[in-house]
Amino acid sequence: MTEIERHDYDVLVIGAGGAGLRAAIEARERGLRTAIVCKSLFGKAHTVMAEGGCAAAMGNVNEHDSWQVHFRDTMRGGKFLNSWRMAELHAKEAPERVWELETYGALFDRTPDGRISQRHFGGHTYPRLAHVGDRTGLELLRTLQQRIVALQQADHDETGDFEARLRVFAECTVTELLTDPDGDGHHAPVAGAFGYWRESGRHVLFSAPAVVLATGGIGKSFQVTSNSWEYTGDGHALALRAGASLVDMEFVQFHPTGMVWPPSVKGILVTEGVRGDGGVLRNSDGERFMFGYVPDVFKGQYAQTEDEADRWYDDQESNRRTPDLLPRDEVARAINTEVKEGRGSPHGGVYLDIASRMPADEIRRRLPSMYHQFKELADVDITAEPMEVGPTCHYVMGGIAVDPDTGQSRVPGLFAAGECAGGMHGSNRLGGNSLSDLLVFGRRAGLGAADYVVGLERRPAVRDDDVELAAAMTLAPFEAHPAGLAGENPYTLHAELQRVMNDLVGIIRTEQEMVAALDRLAELRARVHDVVVEGHRQYNPGWHLALDLRNMLMVSEAVASSALLRTESRGGHTREDYPGLDATWRHRVLVTHCVRSGSGLGAGAGAGAAVVPRTAVEPAEREPMRPDLLALFDLTELEKYYTPAELAGHPDARH
Ligand code: FAD
Repeated sequence: MTEIERHDYDVLVIGAGGAGLRAAIEARERGLRTAIVCKSLFGKAHTVMAEGGCAAAMGNVNEHDSWQVHFRDTMRGGKFLNSWRMAELHAKEAPERVWELETYGALFDRTPDGRISQRHFGGHTYPRLAHVGDRTGLELLRTLQQRIVALQQADHDETGDFEARLRVFAECTVTELLTDPDGDGHHAPVAGAFGYWRESGRHVLFSAPAVVLATGGIGKSFQVTSNSWEYTGDGHALALRAGASLVDMEFVQFHPTGMVWPPSVKGILVTEGVRGDGGVLRNSDGERFMFGYVPDVFKGQYAQTEDEADRWYDDQESNRRTPDLLPRDEVARAINTEVKEGRGSPHGGVYLDIASRMPADEIRRRLPSMYHQFKELADVDITAEPMEVGPTCHYVMGGIAVDPDTGQSRVPGLFAAGECAGGMHGSNRLGGNSLSDLLVFGRRAGLGAADYVVGLERRPAVRDDDVELAAAMTLAPFEAHPAGLAGENPYTLHAELQRVMNDLVGIIRTEQEMVAALDRLAELRARVHDVVVEGHRQYNPGWHLALDLRNMLMVSEAVASSALLRTESRGGHTREDYPGLDATWRHRVLVTHCVRSGSGLGAGAGAGAAVVPRTAVEPAEREPMRPDLLALFDLTELEKYYTPAELAGHPDARH
């Protein structure tokens, strides 16, 4: 076998966003030798893009807030499909995680009396998002990095080596997880990961009995997205190929407000903080159209007049919130309808107006990034004129199925946290609930991984054959193509994939479109076999994309297949042919698994396996909510979602 750079750790964290860094800190603090691998520069993960804030029921701005209210809001936002245990842990632990960040050095915006300030966001009953202007993610990541450096300095003091227990491998992409088929139990435990350095193209192998996936989302499979180049669904696909399963993949969040103009910046996010701080949506007639889109399940909870909505910003006790702040799925669908019915803005969006709502200085102070973003990218002064906005693919609720308490997938030793993990947000995530999710479940996954390693009797081993195969897969795109056959260009295939997902599996879906999408994806899967890249392994983005395409195709197939099966509309999944909620779907979860899985890379895959293994989706039952949590909701509200049989345990149920 060719010489490969090798490293050995106790815990390998793949991803250096909020979830990965928080997991790594926890594992290191438990004394384990921990590595962080990330495909971008350290400090450049997607988390830095988070703008609006981090949701935690601290009650600093409204003392009535509590974990119970946050839990209820999260479950309502997800239309009761969330893993209730994750939603419970998240609501209870988020405040502590935010406080902890301040002990690491974060500095959030303050209330006049010096407490951490909290802002309004869609679906949250009270002002709940701790923030740093509209650059919260940057501060969160900066602080976690600072904590990592502090731990490395402590290790240096003790051992003379900064990297004795915690090392970062930046610009290094993992292409495969390796499992040990000789491990005990039904599923082969994880044994390590294989990847390459982006700069040199050289291979690298990490042996580790515990791996935490924290690779973020999947947005780059869609044409219009707020997501950056990193979001190619790597963690989702790595987990599938290693034998783990995904849940809820039909639920993709289209954020209602992305930029729509000019074309070069289409999809870039306009933070919900604009609406949280007073901005309103209008159509081309100048009408605040959201008042016409409050769905039955939220009737009574939102203001019915503009006057009441405007009063609510200053007095939440006597007024109801503005429907501009309905959960994202509702607002995105409303914008889609306005545009379709001819009341859109010149470039196919609607207007978001903050200019007429507060003084220019105040806008620049509260929303500095938005001010600069529009000025520089669209030549629009948001203190003087409205923005044009429309839906953009933003977040994936679906992800790796994990145990809520430990973050472990069904593959022993394989953990997941953050956007690549599933369950927490049900069918629709509330804004601000991701940053808190990263902290709560990043910490839990790091802890889960550490406990797992400490309890191991035997360290799983990487097999040489699997390493050879993983190496061959990465190099397949360089192989000369048989004479006469033109190879496929990765950029062309990527553009086609993005069009398929955008046009056929986007915000509004039908059976016919989903079937067509699956046919197109099958074609693309076949064509990925023939991808050929030019040049060498050094600095070769075409090659990187060729490898990422495998992941994007697997994940896209999971999204389209799940979306075809779920014959109802709920949260981030809207079926034109099945427009209503269906209670019989509430207790069903769609589980995706890899058809060839569970035995490392092997199982006769051969070098042709470079390519995209098939996935299958099956329905399973969701675990019923614990009665004490069910009792936090009024029976009348639950009856909008649940079947009578499921509500038998509610204290007010008629027996
Ligand atoms: P990320 O921060 O994306 O990190 C993923 C890491 O994985 C990166 O380091 C990447 O390099 C690495 N990686 C990926 N694949 C590989 C691989 N194959 N090998 C090695 N490394 C790999 N949420 C909120 O709660 N509040 C907000 O205000 C908010 N604003 C947002 C604004 C924007 C513009 C966007 C796009 C999202 C926003 N979100 C917000 C969502 C939130 O930012 C993300 O969901 C969250 O940051 C994801 O964090 P993560 O740790 O899971 O992944």
